[in-house]
Amino acid sequence: ESILSGKQGVVVGAGKSGLAAARLLDVLGAHVRVVDRNEKVSDTVLGDLKGKVELITGEHEKSHFSDADIVVLSPGVPVKKMAHALEDVPAVNIVAELEFASWFIEAPILAITGTNGKTTTTTLVSEIFEHAGRKVFTGGNIGTPLCEYLLDMEPAEVIVLEVSSFQLQNCRQFQPHVGVLLNFAANHLDYHESMEEYLEAKLMLFSQMTGEGTALIHESVKPVLDENYDGRGFTNAHVEWFGPTDRFEAPYLPGEHNRSNVEAAWQAVKRFGITEEQAAEAIRNFKPLSHRIEPVEEIDGVLYVDDSKATTLDAVMAAVNAFDRPIRLLMGGVWKGGDVEGFAKAVKDRVVHIGLFGGSRDIFEPVLSKSFPVTWDETLGQAVKRLASDARKGDVVLLSPATASFDQYNSYGHRGDDFKRAVKELT
Ligand code: ADP
Repeated sequence: ESILSGKQGVVVGAGKSGLAAARLLDVLGAHVRVVDRNEKVSDTVLGDLKGKVELITGEHEKSHFSDADIVVLSPGVPVKKMAHALEDVPAVNIVAELEFASWFIEAPILAITGTNGKTTTTTLVSEIFEHAGRKVFTGGNIGTPLCEYLLDMEPAEVIVLEVSSFQLQNCRQFQPHVGVLLNFAANHLDYHESMEEYLEAKLMLFSQMTGEGTALIHESVKPVLDENYDGRGFTNAHVEWFGPTDRFEAPYLPGEHNRSNVEAAWQAVKRFGITEEQAAEAIRNFKPLSHRIEPVEEIDGVLYVDDSKATTLDAVMAAVNAFDRPIRLLMGGVWKGGDVEGFAKAVKDRVVHIGLFGGSRDIFEPVLSKSFPVTWDETLGQAVKRLASDARKGDVVLLSPATASFDQYNSYGHRGDDFKRAVKELT
């Protein structure tokens, strides 16, 4: 018997997180309706829930929600635009999937957000815990939605979550024990208004924390916070600032940005009683995740590196700065916005050639060709060949595209794999 048994739950969005929420509501004894604006969604997505759960597709209507005791939102659902449909539902009954799941969790939650480095840091944190023999659940924005933890997993001692601003934007009461903000790259957003919304979403992570909680925030975010908030107006938690340090050896995690990620991981895990020795060993052995400054091959003294996950200019800068070698940079794809001129200035001394490929040539070429030799090819494979034939011993050929991949690929992983294939073909 749960507080939700016999109640009417409505889940918005029939994706992975929404369906996990639907399953949880069902287990808790609620009547469940899933609504999705996409008319192409059919009840095959419901899997085991078919027959138990009502599915409505197409425009949201007031009648879909008017009997709701609770509405659970998938990440990124634009709740402001749904004001009319949600008119009859008190705001306190509308909850994000992440927050809904967190109601039922007793283990401490460690939540990590930021513009870049979330997956790397989250994975590192969870490896440190595992290395120390702790039972940990890792999920959220990566892998498993938090609702699924409650359904399928063994109870963990610590819950480690990667959280995106899409997940945070609809949270109101979410309260981690330790919250980490890795960075805040405001400059990749074109509109001031959305920048403020983006900052607000990130800070939601801290807004409900009490004095017992710890907010770990990268020092680079301090000026942004000082400008927008008085002192600690954004949280009651104990705030600690961190930056890159040399405290740990991390042979497979190059670059200053990774020294920040490592420090963030350490500052977070030490609050759970992990010792410096335990952390050090896990950090020393931590291999980069695929497509994040991942060395692919060294051919005739030229190192080929797959950083396909770099979809912002800040991530590209971090990659460029991670090498003390001349860089031949591969960029191109679907533009998401950013300051190309500022980027050109920042990497001027390190980059010797920019090989553009695929989309967004019109964004990059006019600006970048003022500072670098720039070429363009239709495909990544052609661009790899061109850069390889120009490269000299000691150079790095770096795929760090600064874009989304959807013009030519299904995902950043698909794009990175295509890069690896092109590199293999060189040998
Ligand atoms: P996220 O999950 O936030 O997208 P990832 O760990 O998957 O982060 O890394 C995405 C990209 O950002 C990679 O190209 C990676 O090298 C780069 N990156 C990782 N950490 C940072 C950081 N602290 N600052 C800037 N870029 C970073």
